[in-house]
Order: sequence, then C-alpha cells, then structure tokens
Amino acid sequence: MNAHAPVASAAISEADERAILDAIDKWIEKKVAPVAMTLEHDDVWPAELVADMTELGLFGALIAPEYGGLGLSATTYARIVTRISEEWMSLTGIFNSHLMMATVVQRFGTERQKDYWLPKFASGELRGGLGLTEPDAGTDLQAIRTTARREGDAYVVNGTKTWISNAIQGHVVALLVKTDPEAQPRYKGMSILITPKIDPKTRQPLPGVSNGRKLEKLGYKGIDSGEFIFEDYRCDADLCLVGGQEGQGFFMATGGLEIGRINIAARSVGIARRALKESVRYAQVRKTMGKPICEHQAIQLKLGDMAARTRAAELLVEDAARAFDTGARIDMEAGMAKYFASETAVEVATEAMRIHGGYGYSKEYVIERLYRDAPLMCIGEGTNEMQRIIISKQLVARNPA
Ligand SMILES: Cc1cc2nc3c(=O)[nH]c(=O)nc-3n(C[C@H](O)[C@H](O)[C@H](O)COP(=O)(O)OP(=O)(O)OC[C@H]3O[C@@H](n4cnc5c(N)ncnc54)[C@H](O)[C@@H]3O)c2cc1C
Repeated sequence: MNAHAPVASAAISEADERAILDAIDKWIEKKVAPVAMTLEHDDVWPAELVADMTELGLFGALIAPEYGGLGLSATTYARIVTRISEEWMSLTGIFNSHLMMATVVQRFGTERQKDYWLPKFASGELRGGLGLTEPDAGTDLQAIRTTARREGDAYVVNGTKTWISNAIQGHVVALLVKTDPEAQPRYKGMSILITPKIDPKTRQPLPGVSNGRKLEKLGYKGIDSGEFIFEDYRCDADLCLVGGQEGQGFFMATGGLEIGRINIAARSVGIARRALKESVRYAQVRKTMGKPICEHQAIQLKLGDMAARTRAAELLVEDAARAFDTGARIDMEAGMAKYFASETAVEVATEAMRIHGGYGYSKEYVIERLYRDAPLMCIGEGTNEMQRIIISKQLVARNPA
C-alpha cells in the first residue's frame, strides 16, 4: 500500500490548465456570482450549480482519466478551489468531500473496487463524502464506535456518524469503522467501507441507513452537513471493504486528509483574497475626514498586513500542492499550508470587516459571509491545534539530532 503515491498521475499542459481555469472563471462569473448571496442566505442546496459542476467534470477532477475523471494535478485542483471559494466557498465542499472519498478508493481500492466505484464517482452519478467523525470522536479518530461485523460475504454496520458533508444530498460515504473493536493499538482494528445509501443500479434507498437531521451552522451554508445512522446495514464485503484487507482504515483516512488539507488551505486563500479585494476597493471609495480611508495610515497598515499574509498563504498552498504531485510524504507541507492559510482567512476576513465599518456587518455585503465562513477552515480536516503538533512531529522526524 503506497499511501503517498500521487492521486492522479496525468500531468496536464499549461495550455490545458489555462483552458480549464478560464472555463471555471466564466462559469463563476455567469452562474455562481448572480445567485451565491441568495442561496447562501437562504441555506439552499444549489441543485443547478451542482449540475454545472457535474458537467464541468469537477466530481472527477482528481480521478484518473481511465476511470472517466479529469486526472488533474493537486496544483491545478488547488487553483480551481481557490477561484471558486473567492465567490462561494461552500460549493467547493460539495466536490472536495466527494473527491476525498474517491481518493481513498483510487489509492487503496482493489482493481474490482476501482472499476466499480470510480466511474460512478467521476461522472457524479454517485456523489458522497468522507464519514469519520462521531458524536464522541472527532480529533481522536481511534475512539470511534461504529462497528462492521463480518457475516459471510457481507459486513453488518452499526453506529452513528455526525457532521458529514454531503450526508443528505449525497448517495454514498467512505465510512471509518472498527472491524476489531478490541484491537490494541486501537488503529489496528479500523477499516474503511464504501457504504451507499441507495442501490447504484435501481437508485432505490437501501435499508439500515438513515440521515437524521440536517445540522444548522454559522456559515458553510448551502452544503448539507448531517448524520449517518447505521442500524444493521449490510454491504457486500468484496465491493465495500477498501483494499480487501481489514485494519488499514486509519492510514487510509489520514492519507485522504492530505489532499483535504490542501483543499482547505486553497479555500482559505479564496476567502482571504476576496476579503482583500473588497477591502482594497472599499478603502478607495469610502471617505472620512475629507479623504479616502486608504489614505489613513491605520487602514494602510491593515491592507499591508492582509496582502502580505494572503500572498504567503498562496505560496504555501502552491508549495504543498507541488509536493503532493511528486508523490512524497507531505503531511508537514499540507499541515503548514492548512494552518497558516486558515488563520490568514480568519484574520483577513476580520480586518476586512473593520475596514468596511458598519457595512461589513451588513448582510448586503459579502464580508459578513467571509467572516462566518473563515473559522470553519481552522476546524475542518484536522484542527489547527493538531496541525501544529503534526508539523512539530515531522520537523523532529526529518531532523534527528
Ligand atoms: C461544517 C463542518 C463540516 C464537517 N465535515 C466533516 C466531514 O465531511 N466528515 C467528517 O468526518 N467530519 C466532518 N466534520 C467534523 C470535523 O472534522 C471535526 O469537527 C473536527 O475534526 C474536530 O473534532 P471535534 O469537533 O470532535 O472536536 P474535538 O476533537 O472534541 O476537539 C475539541 C478541541 O480540543 C482540541 N484537541 C483535541 N485533541 C487534542 C490534542 N490531542 N492536543 C491538542 N488539542 C486537542 C481540538 O483542536 C479542539 O480545539 C465537519 C465539521 C464541521 C463543523
């Protein structure tokens, strides 16, 4: 099992990358920008935009072309995520959580599993996410209680997951379970199962799995966060147990998080860039004491800080994405990018609100949305407390005294 092989191997040319980014930019301008504010405030799942994203191939962005995906590099992917997040960050969660699930199958699945699942994931016929978190286990993933018991050719799953992105509108989840709840150390008893909610052929709901309620949030609106409740849910062992071998789930889950962390970092850059852009514009048109506020030194200091931090975050994301594309172990680079970029998003969004004065607090301006969306970047895909610990452990491991 090579946990650090690149997700997709095909490198695209610069011209192809430009064409893809141009298509994304046009779509954002024409389709996303006019509706983002309303859909976000009404917390509406963006069905039409999801259809567009399917057509643009985003649900297969990191899936190899042989399975019907675009096979993009992490570098191109991160640029796409940043651009979309400048307009509406929530949209990127709809395909990123899905691609984390696909990444687990692409990296670790058996040939049969890849042939069966990846074309359905790449086309968007089956959309989904990654199911790790439980009511009593977030950071401490080894404390999960969801179990999968082998019975003949099937696994029988019981337990509850929470905070799962795409839980309600999605069709399938890559589920972290305990196949041996007594194992010590605990990670040795963990596996990942691909568990659909619907029969992929008939698209009828499968028994034994339900979603409970949709969770209400401060930001990250539009995308559904929800529970997964498994009660004697059965799935075919050969198709569902990723890699066909029990006990590998913890490493698969943390391997999938590397691309997830680059994605969160890229989203954070999108939030910071937009907050900066709005602030630079507003500071030139808003006047106090007879001059634009950008001529007051207090505002200049803010803009200077915001610009430098945003650029540094961009470079850290590029650095982590490039390292990922080489196939190297990159938990330190991904951790640095995620940690720095997400803290930057919070700082820059907060400063943008101050620069906008009362208008920054108004729902008519995008700033209040950026301010609500930014803090999630510090929590998702491993909290920033954990990122600093990971960075430190890697520093020591790479530099033995
Ligand atoms: C909007 C949203 C979407 C999400 N989407 C998904 C999803 O799609 N799939 C999924 O599986 N999960 C998802 N999550 C869950 C998310 O990954 C967890 O919330 C996150 O991992 C933190 O876990 P927790 O909330 O249980 O906090 P806890 O683990 O209880 O942590 C609480 C605090 O203690 C700190 N802490 C914990 N352990 C340590 C330690 N050892 N050292 C230092 N500090 C520590 C944490 O950093 C944090 O500050 C989502 C969450 C949100 C809010």
